[in-house]
Parts: sequence; structure tokens; C-alpha cells
Amino acid sequence: MAHVVVIGASTGGLPFAYDIKKTLGKDHKVTVISNNPNFNFIPSNPWLAVGWRSEEDISFLLEPHLKRKNIGLIIGEASEIKPNDNQVMVGDRIVDYDYLVLATGPKLAFDEVEGLGPEGHSVSICTTAHAESARQKWEEFCSNGGGPIVVGAVQGASCFGPVYEFACIMDTDLKKRSIRDKCPITFVTAEPYIGHLGLGGVGDSKSLLESEFRKRHIKWIINAKVTNVTIDNVTVDQANDEGEVIKTIEIATQYTMMLPAFKGVDIVAKLADVDAGFVNPRGFVMVNDYQQSPVKSNIFSIGVNIAIPPVEATPVMCGTPKTGYMIESMVTAVVHNIEEMLANKAPSHIPTWNAVCIADMGDTAATFVAMPQIPPRNVTWAKKGKIMHIAKIAFEKFFIRNMKTGNSEPVYQKYIFKMLGIERLKKNRHS
Ligand SMILES: Cc1cc2nc3c(=O)[nH]c(=O)nc-3n(C[C@H](O)[C@H](O)[C@H](O)COP(=O)(O)OP(=O)(O)OC[C@H]3O[C@@H](n4cnc5c(N)ncnc54)[C@H](O)[C@@H]3O)c2cc1C
Repeated sequence: MAHVVVIGASTGGLPFAYDIKKTLGKDHKVTVISNNPNFNFIPSNPWLAVGWRSEEDISFLLEPHLKRKNIGLIIGEASEIKPNDNQVMVGDRIVDYDYLVLATGPKLAFDEVEGLGPEGHSVSICTTAHAESARQKWEEFCSNGGGPIVVGAVQGASCFGPVYEFACIMDTDLKKRSIRDKCPITFVTAEPYIGHLGLGGVGDSKSLLESEFRKRHIKWIINAKVTNVTIDNVTVDQANDEGEVIKTIEIATQYTMMLPAFKGVDIVAKLADVDAGFVNPRGFVMVNDYQQSPVKSNIFSIGVNIAIPPVEATPVMCGTPKTGYMIESMVTAVVHNIEEMLANKAPSHIPTWNAVCIADMGDTAATFVAMPQIPPRNVTWAKKGKIMHIAKIAFEKFFIRNMKTGNSEPVYQKYIFKMLGIERLKKNRHS
């Protein structure tokens, strides 16, 4: 009997646990290690942050659902990985594994910008706990009559979609509260143009998002390097196309949400002490075509914690986003690769890494499809419409329901693509 252990139980880890258990059956053991007793549906965090969802709406306790599927659960912080002994430490507890899957997500590098983050002077929507705290500050801000808002993504950030979402969602919410006229919004981004998205643009995402911001009276600053965040001010060094700082801009604010750069979480970054080939300099897990560590063949990684180089060089550093559909493709590939290794075969499944993302805008939404992720592409597509807003709500409902029932069917492939009329595209990323 093999023991498959997965660290992390979010967008990557939980579907993986269900899928590998379903695939391997009762002859093999699956254990999840999670430092969060709940599953949180991260894509709904922007809605939670303006009070359109509660924490309960988008969260549930992992334990009863995993138990029903005969999947072990250890609630606690995995504190050390010992790849040469095939062991994970959770405090004093030793967990032996045959296959280890790292689905630990990112470490949020707020410390790289002075004053950034919930312990500084900006709110965050990266975790559900952060989004709940952002919601409380949002209620306070709105009940005090509003004021200037700064929203955006700092240098080195990679997850741009939620930032565009949050800017438009705040705009929609402020209109509902009839205080939009009191709240000038400035969008500050490391991207070289609006709609770059860390992907070199997707379809005509530049025109689509610029037009949306113009319609919503959202001003923007591109090529931005944020140097300081205080309670009422954000300082930005703006670069030219060569990356040289051309001016320093001070922006007044009373409510600031800026997405930080990501790094690998500590337990993963520390693998560099065992072998430098495990992780890149930012602590993201190195993987081969099969999502497998190039150092240890029984370690795989899925989700935001894998190392992917930037799609292209930009004047201010922008990372590559890792979105839900990409993660679904990684989950499916790793499940089949472990299944093959257990049958003494070489892993053969390569995930697509294609990017499909629905960015909600509160009253409408836009969908971006980039296949493959790096241009030039076979499919590159950006469209806006109310159907996308409905598709995003459907994505939330289907995903949460599937994660409660233990249905590991990829949600995008099965439901959302059909709704949006997107067909085919299950090829691997080298085809
Ligand atoms: C606000 C926001 C909105 C997003 N919206 C979308 C969207 O609409 N569509 C889309 O496709 N993508 C979206 N994404 C991108 C991506 O899909 C999500 O970030 C996704 O949740 C990433 O999943 P993950 O499993 O890799 O990491 P995470 O969701 O970060 O999960 C990692 C889990 O591992 C746990 N963990 C970490 N270290 C340890 C440890 N040492 N021991 C035990 N547990 C540990 C963490 O607590 C966490 O629960 C969004 C991202 C953000 C931040």
C-alpha cells in the first residue's frame, strides 16, 4: 500500500486529494496536511471584501468531507520536509510518505514594500481571513463617507486578475451606496500597460480593460514600483520603457489594497538547504514537464507554489499568474503520473498550463483565454458580458459544491467552458 501525502487543501490540494483517492481506491492511503481547518474558495475573496459574501458562504470544514471519502487529515503546520527520508514533520509528528505533493500556495511578500499589507497600512484579499478584515475596514470607510482609494499590484506581483476585479467591484459597490462621487480610484500596477495581466496581454485585453476603466472613471499608473505605503499616502516610482525611474508620484488614499509579490512558503523554500535544485531563488518549486521535482521523483507540486518564469521581460518586474484552470490541469496530470509510477511506468502526463480566467466586475465580467500561456498563441481571447458574470457565480457554486461532495471533475472543463462556448483545447502545452 502506497501513502500519498498532500500539503495544502485549497484550489490545488483538495481536488487533488479527492481525485487521487478516487483513482487509486482503497488499496492506497491518502493524507492531507493543512494548516487551515477550512476550505476557503479564494476566487470569492473580492466579493467577501465588499460584503457581497460572508466567510461562511465561501468556506466549510474539511474534516467531515474528507472523512466521508476515507482520506486522512492532519490539521497543523507542516514544519519540515525530509526528502531523503520520505518524511514530513508536523511539529513533533512524523508523517512517512511514498509520494509527496506540495500544494502550499504562496508566501505573501508584504515585507518587500515598506508599509504594505494588513500589518502595515493596506488591506489584502489574498486569504479569506484577510478579505474578512478588509470587509470590516471597507464598512468603516464607507460609513465615514468614503475618500480616495488606491488599488493595484506591486512590483513582482503575478496575480493581476483579482486586482482588476476588485477595482471594478469596489466601483460597483460604491455606486450602490451612492458614494462613488466621493471616492476617486487610482489603479497602480507594475504592468507595462493596462491588461498585460502578467501574460503579455490576452486577446485585446488592453483595450477592453482600458475602456472599462475609462467608463468607470478609474485612473491608472503603469510601470509602477511602490516604495512606501502609509495610512494616507502611497509613494510610487514610475519607470519608463527602459525601466529607469522617470518620476516619483505621491497618491493620497484612505483605503488601499495592493497585491504583494509572492514567494515560496518557508517549508518549501528550505528545501534549498537539502539540494539547490528543489526550488528557484524565490523558493518556488522546480518541476519538470510532469509536475515532478527534478531532484526527487516521488515529489510533485501543483498550484501557485511552482516555479514558472515570467512570460516576457517588462520594465518593472511582473510574474506569471497561475490560475484555477491551469491548476486543474496540474492536478489531473499529477494524479495520472502517480498512478503510472505505481504501475512501474514512467510518468507521461503533461498539464496544459493554459490560462483561462473570468474576472468579475461586479455587474458584468470579462473572460481571458490564453493557450498556450506564452505568446504567440493558438488561442487568445478576451470578451466581456453579463454571461461571464453569471459564469463566475456558477464557477463558485459548482466548485464549492464539488469540493463538499468530493467530486474532483475539473469544473472549468465540464461546466464553465460549455457555458462560455469554449470547446476543445485539452492538448498539452508542447503541442
Ligand atoms: C484574491 C484571489 C482571487 C483569485 N481568483 C481567481 C479566479 O477567479 N480564477 C482563477 O482561476 N484563479 C484565481 N486566483 C488564483 C488561484 O486560482 C488561487 O490563488 C488559488 O487559490 C491557488 O491555489 P493553491 O492551492 O495553489 O494555493 P492556496 O489557495 O494559497 O492554498 C495553499 C494552502 O496550503 C496551506 N499551507 C501552506 N503552507 C502550509 C504548511 N506548511 N502546512 C500546512 N498547510 C500549508 C495554506 O494555508 C493554504 O490553505 C485568485 C487568487 C487570489 C489571491
